[in-house]
Amino acid sequence: MELSALAGNRRLKAQLSQQEGGRGLSHAYIIAGPAGSGRHTLGGLLAQAMVCTAPEHQRPCGRCPQCRKAQGGIHPDISWVAGAGEGKPISVDQVRALRSDAYIRPNEGERKVYILEGADRMNASAQNAMLKLLEEGPAYAAFLLLAENAGGVLETVRSRCETLTLDPVAPDECLSWLQARFPQASREELADAANRCQGLLGRAVEQLAGGGEQAQALKDKADKLSRLLMQGQELELLEFSLTLDKLTREETQRLLDLTSAALGDQILQASDRARALRAAQGVKEMRQAAGLNVGPAALFPWLTALLFSREK
Ligand SMILES: [Zn+2]
Repeated sequence: MELSALAGNRRLKAQLSQQEGGRGLSHAYIIAGPAGSGRHTLGGLLAQAMVCTAPEHQRPCGRCPQCRKAQGGIHPDISWVAGAGEGKPISVDQVRALRSDAYIRPNEGERKVYILEGADRMNASAQNAMLKLLEEGPAYAAFLLLAENAGGVLETVRSRCETLTLDPVAPDECLSWLQARFPQASREELADAANRCQGLLGRAVEQLAGGGEQAQALKDKADKLSRLLMQGQELELLEFSLTLDKLTREETQRLLDLTSAALGDQILQASDRARALRAAQGVKEMRQAAGLNVGPAALFPWLTALLFSREK
């Protein structure tokens, strides 16, 4: 198979190529790995390979009309299925609708492919409906179940699928892949993204693609926040913290990471060392709270209170 668009994962690619040349691709896979590990990339490539008209070892070729439609997201026989509403899991009603759709023969080729988001978050009745479909569905239908954790998929469903587990990509491989994808980024930016992403390329892509203005704005906020934490008045800090309540959860976490780094750089030269250490500790505690989904509107005023009440 031609899976070079997926970084790393040599073992998995060899396994799939061997399978394609032998008994052929399976009709049901669980594609497992954390966010950023390449589940959507692999799901897309497998779906494309299933409709591609090129000879066996060259699929997906990326050039035939079927591949082009798949790449453009307009192939009539490939469906991406996600829960209705952001973050919601796929419901039992959606699986039932999918079942009726699966019995309509493919439009163009010989296969119909369904890629399902968050299979490990579907409830038991949705998963059981899925199981029925895997057991009784038409032979031309293929199902790719994306999951952060394959263990969250019912054992009965798992036993009907092959599980493909994505591995983190090695740092040097991350770096060369990012270099090819972001030729305009500086060496430092690329190295920083490759080091931070912990082998999950999706994160590095987010960091680099989401960079530019937004990242700079966040960096400016972190600098200001660390300055105020070190030497600002209580009211100043509180006022500034009120401007941060529209940040998203990810931005809040990133802001706290940046602030933490800025404080770390300044602690040695701080005029009030005790206060600087308290601020650093407070930011650390906040970062933990932010990981538990506490919003910025509650977090930043709390930091102000923490810093000044301890001072007294
Ligand atoms: Zn093709």
